Amino acid sequence: METYITVTFYILGLAVFLFGTFSLGLYALIINPFLETVHINKRLSRKQRDILLKHFKYYRDLSGSQKIDFEKRIRNFLIHKEFIPKGIPQVTEEMQILVAACGVQLTFGFPPVRFESFPKILIYPSHYQSSNGKRHKGEVSLSGFIAFSWEDFMYGYKRPEDGFNLGLHEMAHALKIEDALHQHQQELLDHESLKEWGKISRQEIKKIKTGKMRFLRPYAFNNEDEFFAVCVEYFFEKPEEFKLQLPTLYGSLSKLLKQDPGKILRNAKFYFYPPENRKLMLLMNQAIKELPNLKTLKAKVSFTKSLFVKGRKIS
Ligand SMILES: [Zn+2]
Repeated sequence: METYITVTFYILGLAVFLFGTFSLGLYALIINPFLETVHINKRLSRKQRDILLKHFKYYRDLSGSQKIDFEKRIRNFLIHKEFIPKGIPQVTEEMQILVAACGVQLTFGFPPVRFESFPKILIYPSHYQSSNGKRHKGEVSLSGFIAFSWEDFMYGYKRPEDGFNLGLHEMAHALKIEDALHQHQQELLDHESLKEWGKISRQEIKKIKTGKMRFLRPYAFNNEDEFFAVCVEYFFEKPEEFKLQLPTLYGSLSKLLKQDPGKILRNAKFYFYPPENRKLMLLMNQAIKELPNLKTLKAKVSFTKSLFVKGRKIS
């Protein structure tokens, strides 16, 4: 009788163990990925979209279908990310959406990227002292985190055309590392394009250092990684000027990141003069900036006419 009970007990134990393993496997391999896919394929909420519309020029300039793609990529980025407040009560939804949007902006030319090498995002209120004793505005660590001073992160997006963007700068460092660590799973930076970028950037650094070209800020010339990160900031914030000043470098970066922010700008409706003429382009930028602020149609028409008059005088 005792043997019978023991055998039954073992059989029951084995059955529970097998069922548990099977259920866990089923959840990990099928149910969870399915739920994640359903979650990613939903649009962001109205409130989350409003955050992007308010702060993110890159998102505002996208077409309707591109906006939907952008939002799904934000959800994809946020999966398995832990946001850690450092010296602030909490990391708000707005902060999470904007950090994710920054990562998506940089990688919009690729298949969706999660930056899996960086599961943690640290948010400080402003400049901070890191573990190595240095003061930082942002940081990318091989131990698996990206850190931002929120004051400086927002400064980058409040002035989307000044060539300074901390978020994009740090994400550019993170992308290089992500690419190097996950080379065999998902190719991000095409090997040949990366080689070409390295060659062209070294040539340009030499030219810029010896010449009078002052387009990129001096911090770019610290080393090749900083050069890449600073070029990424200018690429998104001053695409037209970058293209005019350093066309080969711009072309190479555009090939590497598989996108051309200058074209997104060209999709805006006010691109009425040939891009070769820099002065006219400045007028167009003025139009893109100022037209949305004019309340009545009459004011918009008269402002546009005045630009045409100025444009004719220049050309
Ligand atoms: Zn840097």
